[in-house]
Parts: sequence; C-alpha cells; structure tokens
Amino acid sequence: MKNLVKVLLLVVVLATMLTACGKFTCDTCGKEKSGKQHKSEVFGEEVVMCDDCYDDLEKLADEL
Ligand SMILES: [Zn+2]
Repeated sequence: MKNLVKVLLLVVVLATMLTACGKFTCDTCGKEKSGKQHKSEVFGEEVVMCDDCYDDLEKLADEL
C-alpha cells in the first residue's frame, strides 16, 4: 500500500494539472466533489483527486 502512495505521489508531483470548477467523483475517496480537482496519470490511467485527498497526500509526503 505504501508503494502505491509513493507512486501516486510521484505522479502527482510530476503531472498535476488544475482544472476548472465542476462536479466530479474523486478516484481516491470515491466521493462526489465540487471545486478544485487534481488530475494525474497513473500507469496510463487518468486519476482524479479531490482537494482533500491531495492535501492528505501532501501531508503524507512530509512524513515520508
Ligand atoms: Zn477524495
């Protein structure tokens, strides 16, 4: 599980794109969110992350 987080983190750092506001489903927590969304690509698949999950990931990054 920790490896996946590291891969996600790396991809997010490398390929984060901010997009316009709108409703979307977060691929990380599975909740429907509106507002800021973070898109990144993991193994060729697009992953959409909400701001909360992105923040969590950043916090994790500090602990690694
Ligand atoms: Zn989320």
